[in-house]
Amino acid sequence: TVKLEIRNMSKQFKNGDGVRDVNLAVYEGEFLTMLGPSGCGKTTILRAIGGFAEVDQGDILIDERSVSQLPPEKRPTAMVFQSYNLWSHMTIFDNLAFGLHIRKVPKKEIQRRTQEMLELVKMSGVEKKYPAQLSGGQQQRIAIARALLLQPSVLLLDEPFSALDAKIRSQMRAELKKIQEDLNITVVFVTHDQEEAMAISHRIVVMNKGVFEQIGTPTEIYDKPASQYVASFIGDMNFIKEPDGKILAVRPEAITLSKAGEGGKWSGYIRTIMVLGHYAEIVVQAGEQTIKIFQPRHISDTFSQNDPVSLSFDKYQVY
Ligand code: ADP
Ligand code: MG
Repeated sequence: TVKLEIRNMSKQFKNGDGVRDVNLAVYEGEFLTMLGPSGCGKTTILRAIGGFAEVDQGDILIDERSVSQLPPEKRPTAMVFQSYNLWSHMTIFDNLAFGLHIRKVPKKEIQRRTQEMLELVKMSGVEKKYPAQLSGGQQQRIAIARALLLQPSVLLLDEPFSALDAKIRSQMRAELKKIQEDLNITVVFVTHDQEEAMAISHRIVVMNKGVFEQIGTPTEIYDKPASQYVASFIGDMNFIKEPDGKILAVRPEAITLSKAGEGGKWSGYIRTIMVLGHYAEIVVQAGEQTIKIFQPRHISDTFSQNDPVSLSFDKYQVY
């Protein structure tokens, strides 16, 4: 079932930036990520869904009902921001309980639900603390817990982990994914980090200057990028100019390397070999083209710098 639908939505700011003709359906239990560089319009769309920004045209439906005229607090959404946005003068318990008080949930039930939620985000025992006494990662767990307590139809997350350091970020990402699956909640997640998007999403929307370039599963987007823009934004990619002017896009791991003369359409020589643990990054010069190749160690170990080599491409796209 479709949980969230955006129809023909556009929003233009005075400087000309914004989003154009956005159409999107997000399904129940889906983890959908909007991915794109800074300034491409991700937050604009999220804020429009949450009711924090007006749009020029278009409609937003949640559970088949238009929410476009509703203020944020009347929408069945909850939003988590990059900066944790906890109320600094309130204890963690009060931060969590506030939204439930307003909704006139009985005290006993508030107690029970906040306890459960703290367990879920692995933060039991911090009820009496204040936000400033927690680390950034812990504050963001609380912000996520606070949003989940509202039992939103759609949970909106705007780069929630981008202020955290790399190790905590990947841990938080895994935990969020697990919570999302366990609760079967519908999530719209925003990031500029392609690795993060690949790791947690059912589907990814790749955005470019206010429009959707491609919507697909991580594998679809990785294996069949719809444009050169998508190809260059996601993962490592070699772009190789052909005599006819077309561009061949080849992933570094989709190239077979062999000794010169042992087959392979392209020939060149090895410029560098860099061992990166269980695999190596090999750079081959083939005429004017510099081509990056990933090879497992048992293959890279049989080559040396300056060796003449042949290359064949196992998988590629032409643009
Ligand atoms: P992203 O979240 O992808 O980084 P945003 O949706 O925040 O991008 O913004 C996209 C562009 O729209 C920005 O580069 C900016 O030029 C413009 N913009 C966003 N919000 C506003 C605003 N409140 N007022 C004016 N322009 C804005
Ligand atoms: Mg943003």
